This record gives sequence, structure tokens and C-alpha cells, in this order.
Amino acid sequence: MTFDELRATLKEQHLVLDDAMMEKLDHYLHLLVEWNEKFNLTSIVIPEEIIEKHFYDCLIASDPALFQHQQVLDIGSGAGFPGIVWAIAYTGSSFTLLDATKKKCLFLEEVKKALDLSNVTVIHGRAESLPATMRETYDFVSARAVAELRILLELGAPWLKIGGTFIAMKGPRGEEELRDAHHALRALGFGHTEIRKTSLPNEEGVRLNLYISKERKTEKRYPRTYADIVKKPL
Ligand code: SAH
Repeated sequence: MTFDELRATLKEQHLVLDDAMMEKLDHYLHLLVEWNEKFNLTSIVIPEEIIEKHFYDCLIASDPALFQHQQVLDIGSGAGFPGIVWAIAYTGSSFTLLDATKKKCLFLEEVKKALDLSNVTVIHGRAESLPATMRETYDFVSARAVAELRILLELGAPWLKIGGTFIAMKGPRGEEELRDAHHALRALGFGHTEIRKTSLPNEEGVRLNLYISKERKTEKRYPRTYADIVKKPL
């Protein structure tokens, strides 16, 4: 997918990117390619594939109505997916990008500086060790390719406000993971789940994005330690 195709395809879906946003995506693409030669940030290295499998994939998982003056936390943002892409497209909202790997955070800081993204904050840390002051403060929590849904929900729920939405970007196994997460959803205070099924234009892979609303407070005993979360998922 080229940048022109990205813009045209998104426009059909009522997501309009202006020239400044397109320039920032282009700059970001160059930084990804440049840094990838030194550090292994993403296995996808061909520009047209980055545009489709990273940029387009992240943008179709967003919803213009969702991001107006909101606080968004992206868990395990990695090289910036979906966090940086969303921050470029939704300048009215604030994005906190959290990652456990120092190298990824250095890259994210570099992108923030180079693209002048004043709505981005980078935190080097682990989702399960959230500071008490940040508990239940975010309108949205997102995660793509970080962990299985049951695990993700426990990592993310404590950060999310009541009335907020967890956005889990999943692939074909999304529905199965959702079934397995039945108990976790209840235990952590989640309610209604909306499933949006899409696919990438030149790829067969199905994308299953889940929008899960938080309706009740998450008990203080969550999140448990990472070892417990993984060993005994809810
Ligand atoms: N979301 C990105 C990166 C996925 S790779 C993408 O879609 O391309 C998973 C990332 O999650 C890694 O960068 C890893 O450092 C981070 N990660 C894994 N577990 C984490 C945790 N508990 N807290 C914070 N970051 C975590």
C-alpha cells in the first residue's frame, strides 16, 4: 500500500488525514527504516508493508469519535503501534506509550522529538507495576501483539477509568481468546464487548478488534505479579 492509497482508503472510511499528518507518517516511516538497520524494532521492513501492516492496521482500529480530548494508554507500544500512529492522527488526545524495553522507549522518545508530538508521553516500565496515582485514570487502554487477552485484561484494567474502553487489537484467534476471557472480564469489572472484524487490503489475514467497556471498579488486588498473571490467568 502506498501513502496515497492509505489516504484514499481511510477517507472512504471517514478518517481524513491532513497534509501535516501525512508528512509525519512519512517521517516516522523513515525513522523506522533507519533505526531498524541498527536495532531490530519490527520484522516488517519494506515501506509499502509498513504502511499497510502497521499504519493502516492501527488506523482502522481507531474511531474518530473515540479520540477527542481523551487520555489513552498504549501498553507494550514497541516501535509505536498503535500509540505513535494514533498520536499523529488524533492531535486532540494525549497518548502515554508504555514499554518494558529500554531500547524501544529510546526510539519512541526520538520519534516524539523528531515529529514534535507534544501529545505523547513515553514511560519505560511494566504494565503490572502501575503507580497508585495512575490507577483508573485513562479513558482508553490499547494493546497490539503484547499477550493473550486474559493476560492483557489484567494488565490493562487497573489503568482504565470506569466508563473507559479497552481496545485489544487481535488477529483471527480474537474470538477464541474472548471466549477464554469470560471469567477475567467479569472479575476485572468489564461489561459489554463490541467486536469489529476487518481485513487488510492485500492480505488474507483477518483483524479482530475488540472494544471492551469497563463498568465497575477493578479490585485493588489486581494486577497480581506478572508471574502469577501468566501462571494462573483469570
Ligand atoms: N505493540 C507493538 C509491539 C508488540 S511487541 C506492535 O504491535 O508492533 C510487544 C511489546 O510489549 C514489546 O516491546 C515488549 O517490551 C512489551 N511488553 C511486554 N510485556 C509488557 C508489560 N508487562 N509491560 C510493558 N510492556 C510490555
